[in-house]
Amino acid sequence: SKKWKVSPSEISLRDGDVISQNDFALMAGPCSIESEEQVDAVIKHLVENNVKIMRGGVYKPRSSPYSFRGLGMDGLKMWYEKAKAAGIKIITEVMQVSQVEEMYDYIDIYQVGARNTQNFNLLDELGKVDKPVMIKRGVSGTIEELLYSAEYVFSGGNEDLILCERGIRTFENMTRNTLDINAIPVLKDKSHLPVVIDPSHGIGIRKHVEPVALAGIMAGADGVIYELHPDPEKAMSDGQQSLYFEESAAMINKMRKAYALR
Ligand code: PEP
Ligand code: MN
Repeated sequence: SKKWKVSPSEISLRDGDVISQNDFALMAGPCSIESEEQVDAVIKHLVENNVKIMRGGVYKPRSSPYSFRGLGMDGLKMWYEKAKAAGIKIITEVMQVSQVEEMYDYIDIYQVGARNTQNFNLLDELGKVDKPVMIKRGVSGTIEELLYSAEYVFSGGNEDLILCERGIRTFENMTRNTLDINAIPVLKDKSHLPVVIDPSHGIGIRKHVEPVALAGIMAGADGVIYELHPDPEKAMSDGQQSLYFEESAAMINKMRKAYALR
């Protein structure tokens, strides 16, 4: 809370990159890591657009057990080798306690997904590691519950935390979720932690991701995490909300301009 710490936290990544309330961070990549070819193509796009952090799931929380659930550690190791060679950092979702140690050597930021925001055993475990953690707001979670989830990790000893507004479930069903713009200024007022938005899951519709991202930046977001894919129509998960590379490049330009205007 800002009562405890007035100055913004700085989350340091290896090689000196920092995520904080004084900076703007972009994290982009596919919903799921699928193949070497896909990873190569995404890394090339990120390098061309000077995006330093790649997102991607290797353990996927899917509504149906019959959907693609990720490549697991083999996929993460393959991705790590390629990312390291290109100087790209990795953020990926950790779903259970045993994966915290398993993933440690291969990642830069642990992502706690919306379905695990209140997995308190997992949060306790992440409190013991010395790597940054990004916690997503629960699907039906309040802002206060997100802050308490962060408090679990923080009080366990890990202060390198990033908060993520990824949309909540509301009565509205024309969109996948409702990105709660209100949460951005409220979280930044209450907390010294960087606040990132996920417009991809926030709205769930490719053509509407950009306006939501821009609105979130103007509302104070310190970063944006979003999904893209070399061939979204063939993506194994969340293709409907994943940007084509051309769309991503255009959005990156606009987001950087919006942040500079703020
Ligand atoms: C994801 O980032 O692909 C994901 C599953 O997100 P969330 O936990 O916000 O649904
Ligand atoms: Mn996804």
